[in-house]
Amino acid sequence: MGTDIFAVEKRSEIMSRVKSKNTGLELKVRSGLHRIGYRFRIHRNDLPGTPDIVLPKYHTVIFVHGCFWHQHPGCKKATRPKQNPDFWEEKLSRNMERDRQAERDLKFLGWNVLTVWECEINSKYFSNKMTEVSRQINEGNN
Ligand SMILES: [Zn+2]
Repeated sequence: MGTDIFAVEKRSEIMSRVKSKNTGLELKVRSGLHRIGYRFRIHRNDLPGTPDIVLPKYHTVIFVHGCFWHQHPGCKKATRPKQNPDFWEEKLSRNMERDRQAERDLKFLGWNVLTVWECEINSKYFSNKMTEVSRQINEGNN
């Protein structure tokens, strides 16, 4: 019994890999926004949840979420690993609760909150998604 040190190392290795993967996702969304003419700031840690992308002019923040880490509802990538189920249950539930709390706080502060998911970014319909995001950004400008 007890914590398997190899498992811990393995997990942090997986997590850092996922983090850099998420940066790739963010870059794709950011260049998509640039292409359609938006200006924005990134990682505003003075806002709840440190949104990945902030468009102050439109009162809009965008989170770029990995489907597994943030448990995209109804997504086939939002699985629960069979190994160490308690660890994952706690970890993933905490992530989801943190996301919900950040969204509540941001909305309370008057921000329009958008989420773009990994599977939407990797989809061949990504440009359609960006069109939808653009429409939603403009809705925040009221
Ligand atoms: Zn997904």
